[in-house]
Amino acid sequence: MIFLLMVLVILVFAVLWNVDIHKTLHLKSLTQNAGDAAALMAARWQGITLNVIGDLNIMQAVAISEDDSFALGAITNIQARLCFVGPMIALEASQQAAKNNGMYEHEEFSERMRAHANAVRYDYPSKTDDSGEMLFTEPYEGCWEEYADMIDTVANNGVAAGPDNVHYYTDRVAGHTLLDIGFYGAVNAPAWCWFFRNDYDLLKTYSNFRDWDPLPELVNREYMNSEIFGLQLTKRQTPLSSMTGDSDSFFAFLNDIANDRELGTITTNAMDTPALWYCYNDDWWGAWETMNTEAPEYFPLTGTLRDEYNYRGADAACRINASGLTLLTPHQYAPTVKWSAAAKPFGTLNDNERPNTYGIVLPAFQQVAMIPIDASSAGAGGSYNIEWRTHIEQHLEQYTQRGPSGGEAGCYYCTQLVTWEISAFRETGVSWLSTNSYLCTLPSGPGRYRTGGTSRGH
Ligand SMILES: [Zn+2]
Repeated sequence: MIFLLMVLVILVFAVLWNVDIHKTLHLKSLTQNAGDAAALMAARWQGITLNVIGDLNIMQAVAISEDDSFALGAITNIQARLCFVGPMIALEASQQAAKNNGMYEHEEFSERMRAHANAVRYDYPSKTDDSGEMLFTEPYEGCWEEYADMIDTVANNGVAAGPDNVHYYTDRVAGHTLLDIGFYGAVNAPAWCWFFRNDYDLLKTYSNFRDWDPLPELVNREYMNSEIFGLQLTKRQTPLSSMTGDSDSFFAFLNDIANDRELGTITTNAMDTPALWYCYNDDWWGAWETMNTEAPEYFPLTGTLRDEYNYRGADAACRINASGLTLLTPHQYAPTVKWSAAAKPFGTLNDNERPNTYGIVLPAFQQVAMIPIDASSAGAGGSYNIEWRTHIEQHLEQYTQRGPSGGEAGCYYCTQLVTWEISAFRETGVSWLSTNSYLCTLPSGPGRYRTGGTSRGH
């Protein structure tokens, strides 16, 4: 009897455990689908918006040809708004895609987005620099209010997929070890090679928290792109003919597009009249360096990146945190399934030229594709990695003034800073590296196959 009872108990647990595994795997596949769908949907709307802005550039050339000054003013106005409205539609559509794939609102994500809407509404118009200049100049009148309304709408509808590559105007963009999530991972591991490769001097010479350089300051920029899923464009006051060396063939090419899309005819006069054009920002639309297989820490691609796709450009990364799984067997932590994915609009001009060949935005985007999250514009930490964001936004300021003792209890990143402050800890690293640093260099270059994987994400 006792033996049979024991067998029965074991069997019951085996069955329950099996059910749990199925539940978890099911949620995992749901989460992946939802994250991928959200990223693809956002990228699709980025592509659509870029095409519309491109069409409007063509329409502007037609309007100049026809000397239609009323249309000219309206076009520039619509383009300025589209830089915000387009990405906001992308954001809302990506939420819908995640929800259609079985995801629910994530409270913390919604809260974070609502808080950002408030920052846009109240902080942006009131922030000034040292000389009293408005720090965040509006791209058009009433922009911050409209933009905040749109973010609020998405937050109130419920955020299921956190946009993970947000480029906040207030962000101190990298440029400091304390803003590098890799540093904290290296202290936690501890991975001394990280220091060898990134900042050996820091490990050797650091004595206490007062040694850190001050955190980078905010710089005044032109704010014309949405922070979330921005298109990374810029404005240029110039004649069309100056966009390329061969202005005759460019003229013919523009007329081909105008005819194809039945927008009218462009005259030579439109080529030589200076006007305000929406163009790709070269800082963002330059070569896609992460995908360069010739670089020392090269990306493990199976082939080489095709030339027409070799631009960084606008992309979308989404993060899903799926919780709410009720398991039948006892477990220590409430299980959460996480997934992040990135996608990007792709397209060509003349079949094999990059969309940004001429600098000016033209309707060129035909498709979207998933890209490795590591090759996207999402920072290492991710904008909707709540714990990380809380650390860099709220804890670091205090840490630089009062040291690790001022750190927040329970914050993983603050805990690493406490460890980092211990000189014996750092000395262990220095002495390990003094004899073992040769282990840190990975063989690189074409044809050199290295073992032991790569630090690159999916
Ligand atoms: Zn912290």
